[in-house]
Amino acid sequence: MKVRAAKKPRRPKTVALTFDDGPSPYTPQVLDILRRNRVKATFCLLGNNVGDYRRTVRRIVREGHRICNHSRDHADFTKLSRTAARDNVERAQRKIRKAAGRSPKTFRFPYGASDPAARAVVRGEGLRILGWTVDTRDWQGPPAPTITRRAVRDTRPGAVILMHDGGGDRRPTVASLPNTIRKLKAKGYVFVLA
Ligand SMILES: [Zn+2]
Repeated sequence: MKVRAAKKPRRPKTVALTFDDGPSPYTPQVLDILRRNRVKATFCLLGNNVGDYRRTVRRIVREGHRICNHSRDHADFTKLSRTAARDNVERAQRKIRKAAGRSPKTFRFPYGASDPAARAVVRGEGLRILGWTVDTRDWQGPPAPTITRRAVRDTRPGAVILMHDGGGDRRPTVASLPNTIRKLKAKGYVFVLA
């Protein structure tokens, strides 16, 4: 009788899509694509933006995506005092909660810029710090195929991909998204919340 070696349980290859600097007029287009592809993502919202896009913020939550605090005004936290940093995080948290009906549990530093004091402030507010592992640099305005290529090429299991749904002309990001999702799915990736 043949005895088969016990197979190691294979862990799913996961990847998380994250969208920063919204909400914006492009956010509903991103949501449409995610819904069509049954993919959930994480949206790092600016506190100053949410008031003008309440319906969009509600939709993000209703459709099962995750919201993240990306500061009130995209400040560089390495240049803020502790008091100013705390105030910034708290104000953004309040604005997002008011719009979304729930509080973010994560925080992403604008520009990814932080120092020990800023990280201590964020953790002190009970928030987990969210980074990324794949930077599509979509904010530099590359064409859609370039955004897809960077996202797919640099993704490893457990990756967190950084894209932007706000902060400028996001048409290339929107246009790139269906192909990025299709190619990552073809590689066996499962989409998770960051
Ligand atoms: Zn940002």
